[in-house]
Amino acid sequence: MDTKQSLIKIVNGHVITPDGITRNGFVLVREGIIISVSDHELEMEGAVILDAGGKYISPGFIDIHVHGGGGYDFMDNTVEAFLEIAKIHARYGTTALFPTTLTGSAEDIIKTLRTYDEACPLNESGSEFMGVHLEGPYFSMNQRGAQDPQWIRDPDPVEYEYIISQSDSIKRWSAAPELKGAIPFARYLTSKGILPSLAHTDAIYEEVLEGFENGYTLATHLYSAMSGVTRRNAYRFAGAVESAFIIDDMDVEIIADGIHLPAPLLKLIFKIKGPGKIALITDAMRGAGMPPGESVIGNLQTGLKVIIEDGVSKMPDRKSFAGSVATTDRLVRTMIQMAGVSLTDAIRMMTMTPAVIMKIADRKGSLTKGKDADIVIFDEYINIHATMVKGKIVYRAPVR
Ligand SMILES: [Zn+2]
Repeated sequence: MDTKQSLIKIVNGHVITPDGITRNGFVLVREGIIISVSDHELEMEGAVILDAGGKYISPGFIDIHVHGGGGYDFMDNTVEAFLEIAKIHARYGTTALFPTTLTGSAEDIIKTLRTYDEACPLNESGSEFMGVHLEGPYFSMNQRGAQDPQWIRDPDPVEYEYIISQSDSIKRWSAAPELKGAIPFARYLTSKGILPSLAHTDAIYEEVLEGFENGYTLATHLYSAMSGVTRRNAYRFAGAVESAFIIDDMDVEIIADGIHLPAPLLKLIFKIKGPGKIALITDAMRGAGMPPGESVIGNLQTGLKVIIEDGVSKMPDRKSFAGSVATTDRLVRTMIQMAGVSLTDAIRMMTMTPAVIMKIADRKGSLTKGKDADIVIFDEYINIHATMVKGKIVYRAPVR
């Protein structure tokens, strides 16, 4: 059904709101905007009824760090790749996402930014694109992980100012704060409304703190490609992980696929940072939503070969992970089942917290009057039954 312009009344479901769960609640949507969330039925002439079938009615999931899915990577630099990634993630509950790049040349990055601009107006049946997250290339070589070493370098103002001048779509940039030039880089980003995020870093506490004070207020995939406690001669130093814990106002994002971080670490992070400071991310590569086997991380022609098995992407020697194949429904499920958090806390970390971090909470992140009608309907196992983006149903599970 074409629901874009109509009035829609979602009935017969448990509505997840910022205040808790409204049993047997109602959500009214007009022209893509939520106009009412209520515990009693409002008569609305001409409304199309969407029956939630006794399931949960939740704000749509927001993935602030995702590289691909459905066999495509954003760095394939084709409009088709962008649209297919948006579609596959919408099937799993993502209604808004930030396409994420890998380290590459300035030309590659600019090509991705151009493709993003081309794809945006054509994206009518997938998760909405909210802006680009550039991951790299200004990283610590020692913490590069699956990022291609040939592109890793220190921040270069000539380069980054040029890249930023080419696009209004960059919303976040992940970099290592201890590098030469990383502090002026963060200040420049902040002045342009771009969020600096500390990533692939070997920083010790003092460097993280200086970075934080200059704009690095988010930690990219906490624990992955990031320093922990180190010893230099007899003395111990707190690394980036401990620093993210010590600095109360530091936000963190975690790959909650249940593999990158085991249950005790998920519990530890939740215990220290709480649901208001943690964003769940997929960090998914092209293998998300695809069968296991060989794959490629990054651009199909120039990227690194990886293996997908055991629900994760691995480097060919199987000694480290190379991105995830998670989808957002799995992140929510993992936090409930492995970390023991409540459904409402898990949803908050997948909706409102990432919206606040990325400064889009005025229109995304909760089922609140006046916000975009980004809504997912799922059962108690977080199986997605329907996904709505700005009032349009972009996915409906087949009836079984
Ligand atoms: Zn990533």
